[in-house]
Amino acid sequence: MGFEQFGIISFTSTTKTAQFVDFLKENEIRGTVCKECGARFFPPRSDCSVCLSDEMDWFPISGEGTLLTFTKAMFAPAGFEKDAPYILGVAEFADGVKVFGRLDKALPDDSVKPGMRVKIHVVALEGDRLSYELTAA
Ligand SMILES: [Zn+2]
Repeated sequence: MGFEQFGIISFTSTTKTAQFVDFLKENEIRGTVCKECGARFFPPRSDCSVCLSDEMDWFPISGEGTLLTFTKAMFAPAGFEKDAPYILGVAEFADGVKVFGRLDKALPDDSVKPGMRVKIHVVALEGDRLSYELTAA
């Protein structure tokens, strides 16, 4: 099974980290951690950009994080036009893992602020596709 099921549009049909989608199906969001140096990655990487090892393991991203920054996209790239406007943010979770992703559209704009507590969860999209988003904790 490849990566076709991820996101609104998947530009990649297969990847060494396609298991990410299997975890989404189990309602888990996971990144990868290097078995050699302990560097953690999200989105998951199959090779460590710190020590170049290809010995990676998966770890769950759960609990609460802190929103570091965000932006509201008023215009969207091809394929995402009907979703605009939407908010994109970067949140930091345990062990300094940073997650870039969309924020829950149900959050009022004026409630979104740097420093707010957030959590990450799996979202089901049209056509049996899966993604994740950040929402208020
Ligand atoms: Zn490493």
